[in-house]
Amino acid sequence: MPQPNIVFIMSDDHAAHAMSCYGSRINETPNIDRIAHNGARLDNCFCTNSICAPSRAVILTGKHTHLNGVRTLADRFDGRQETVPKILQRNGYQTAIFGKWHLGEGGNSSPTGFDHWVVLPGQGDYHDPLMLSSDGEKVYEGYVTDIVTDLSLQWLDQRDQERPFMLMCHHKAPHRWWEPDDKHMHLYEGEDIPLPDTLHDDYSHRSEAAKRAKMRVSSDFFYRDLKLKTPEGHEPTDFIHVPEDLTDFSLCPIDGEPVTFTDHKAVVEWLYQRYIKDYLRCVAAIDDNVGRVLDYLDENNLTEDTIVIYTSDQGFFLGDHGWYDKRFMYEESLRMPLVVQYPKEIPAGSFSDTMVLNLDFGKTFLDYAGIAAPQDMQGHSLRPILCGETPAGWRTSMYYRYWMHLSHHNVAAHYGVRTHEHKLIYYYGEAMGTSGSVDVSTPKEWELFDLENDPQELRNVYDDPDYAAVRESLTKELERLKKEALDFQ
Ligand code: CA
Repeated sequence: MPQPNIVFIMSDDHAAHAMSCYGSRINETPNIDRIAHNGARLDNCFCTNSICAPSRAVILTGKHTHLNGVRTLADRFDGRQETVPKILQRNGYQTAIFGKWHLGEGGNSSPTGFDHWVVLPGQGDYHDPLMLSSDGEKVYEGYVTDIVTDLSLQWLDQRDQERPFMLMCHHKAPHRWWEPDDKHMHLYEGEDIPLPDTLHDDYSHRSEAAKRAKMRVSSDFFYRDLKLKTPEGHEPTDFIHVPEDLTDFSLCPIDGEPVTFTDHKAVVEWLYQRYIKDYLRCVAAIDDNVGRVLDYLDENNLTEDTIVIYTSDQGFFLGDHGWYDKRFMYEESLRMPLVVQYPKEIPAGSFSDTMVLNLDFGKTFLDYAGIAAPQDMQGHSLRPILCGETPAGWRTSMYYRYWMHLSHHNVAAHYGVRTHEHKLIYYYGEAMGTSGSVDVSTPKEWELFDLENDPQELRNVYDDPDYAAVRESLTKELERLKKEALDFQ
């Protein structure tokens, strides 16, 4: 069988619960849903380290972050190591990447293994972004999500039609600063987005680590995040200051009239609306552009021979637990959306709750291309699962580790294990010399959640005697997984 084409579309921070094919209560994503309807939706896809650069490095290498060298945002990717695009390129594939790279620029960190690349420096800009390529840098006029798609389709137009291709279309959106395009600027105007059940979470029955995290909707947004006028004496990147006493307290949108508040709950809900609407407006532009790619494949008779994947580098808190951002091993952040179509092989409209990881993507690409994976690549090919068959002995637990102790959003480093029924998290309380960490110790603490009876992870049962046996077996499983992952730190 000829080698299939691969179109890998990845957005940045797009949580599965903001996709209608995953049952979103807050938005519609008709084009991303097309992929799920044409192929498979995976309901238990998780990342091994919930932040941008590490997840990207895992996908490129098929190795855990402690082995590919990008454990934190302070690490730079060493492109001299083996990567999936390099292997595909050596085996006859045309390869390209457009959009978010976020693994460092210059030296050994610029993209390798790609015939052609045009990427954003760092996080990149939403409007008129500067982009880097092997030819140097250039400003592209327009909106970043459209531009990344334009570049992708232009590259497909000029490709050699006799050879297979792998296209990585990596959107910057819907990453912070959540800046919509003109087309979607007024979407959701005059309506209220449903509130998440846990928006007013008080973090009782949880770790100190959860209480300590500074990613709260109520207090940890910047004026710039929510496009609010910055009060005198403040900067746009100052935290929005909400006083205890709300007498005469108001906030003013940059393009609107001041809103006056009389109670704290109302402030939090208003801030949530400001946040989630811009986030979903950015998602809407991604969805339109996914539609453009699917239409292109249809119009050019490529759909049959092309595997199309839509995913995001990790999940995101959409006001869940009163938070934005990611990093924690909690469900909203840990879970990745993953929909895949390949009409030749994947039954339309199928879905699976088998536990899969971003660590598996590398071997999956190579399996479809008929190329043996290197011995030291971790993870497993998802190809049988996408056909509806979970191999005997497939994993029923996964290993997670977040390394950046206290540096961003004051989130403590932790590692843990998730099974289908439970989750055990260990906050080990040390920077351990990790780059991008703050060298301050915090108390060591554990969390155990019963995911079947407490899917929102509101009650830590680590010290509950009823869970003693679960706690013991999960502690052993965590040790086993850590060794299996070759994480000895
Ligand atoms: Ca991200």
